[in-house]
Amino acid sequence: MIRAAEVIARCRRLASFSEETGSTLRTFLSPPMRDCHREIANWLTAAGAEVTVDAAGNLRAFYAATQSSAPRLLLGSHLDTVPNAGPYDGVLGVVVGVALLEALEGRRLPFGIEVAGFSEEEGVRFGIPFIGSRALVGRLDEELRNRQDANGISVRAAIERFGLNPAEIPRATLADDTLAYLEFHIEQGPVLEALELPLGVVETIAAQTRMEFVFLGRANHAGTTPMHLRHDAIAAASEWIVAVERTAQSYPDLVATVGQFAAKPGAINVIAGEVRVTLDLRHQSDVICARVADMLIQLAEEIADQRGLALRRIVLLSQRAVAMDPFLVEQAEKAIRKIGCQPHRMVSGAGHDAMILAEKVPAAMIFLRSPGGISHDPAESVKVADVAKALECGLQLLDQLASSSELQKRMCRA
Ligand SMILES: [Zn+2]
Repeated sequence: MIRAAEVIARCRRLASFSEETGSTLRTFLSPPMRDCHREIANWLTAAGAEVTVDAAGNLRAFYAATQSSAPRLLLGSHLDTVPNAGPYDGVLGVVVGVALLEALEGRRLPFGIEVAGFSEEEGVRFGIPFIGSRALVGRLDEELRNRQDANGISVRAAIERFGLNPAEIPRATLADDTLAYLEFHIEQGPVLEALELPLGVVETIAAQTRMEFVFLGRANHAGTTPMHLRHDAIAAASEWIVAVERTAQSYPDLVATVGQFAAKPGAINVIAGEVRVTLDLRHQSDVICARVADMLIQLAEEIADQRGLALRRIVLLSQRAVAMDPFLVEQAEKAIRKIGCQPHRMVSGAGHDAMILAEKVPAAMIFLRSPGGISHDPAESVKVADVAKALECGLQLLDQLASSSELQKRMCRA
């Protein structure tokens, strides 16, 4: 409990390193990220780890194994935040990693432990997420390095300004001896709270489709245009939005959101000529996600057609579902049971660094209950008892993995 309270105090302290006074905002390699690194590096060094910052701005710490030739387990999460953020999204996973090293109290395991604090996951500064973890899987490519923020500063220039060398990005890739990746993260949703459970195990990170639709009607006078002669873009888009909600409700576990709506010309006495709306669609099955996307496209076309409107659409993102490693999922469940809790397997509707790392190494995620389901808000919180359970579960999992014959086999292969 003392250690758990310390984890919470540390997360709150890190939240004070911000680009804005009075709220938390920490984007890719902004000056407060340096303070954040310094603070965490002090804790890690005291716990017996060697700390570096790679060329993509990720904090990387290594806690050696019993033998120098042993492979490593990677623990991590992200250190960047959204604007007006809470103190736990991402940061908690890194601080839990630090606390697990401290809890080992110098004890060495048959594998080393690397703790990673990723420089960027949220996509706030450059509009593209996962810059930090992409570097570990060798996907921080030229196009991404040249991408610019709102002030015209490229990813490459931001790296240089932070005192790092972009030419060394290839050296940020995962060590060949990495056995697996494990991430602790707040759930950011209401499921565990509703079940009255402190911890959950992610089985799959949901498939995601993002699209933009533009309904093109005809702007005209609100007083002189009879109802049957109108081509009202707002009415058409609204009919479709209600259908999106109804469709999503008819598929278990599907979530569909129209999060943006912009109408032109936007005057009280003018029929809307154009509406731009976005669609965000998520489900654990790629097939269902794609099927519903096709259905909603067809529906939009039909509605536009019936009302004499044109329709334009583009796909902004098409991300397949990512399965977590079945062996690690089982081990995480076993660890949760061992500490006297009931594990709950769940789908993560949000994307996480684990999704990127899973391209190269077996990955797993453990969720902590989010009180009120609140995240991406200063009211984001976590219970001290749940953090204590997460630490207990993490230690149990490390011990299980240290004595697992399956992992021994993987260690020989690594
Ligand atoms: Zn996060």
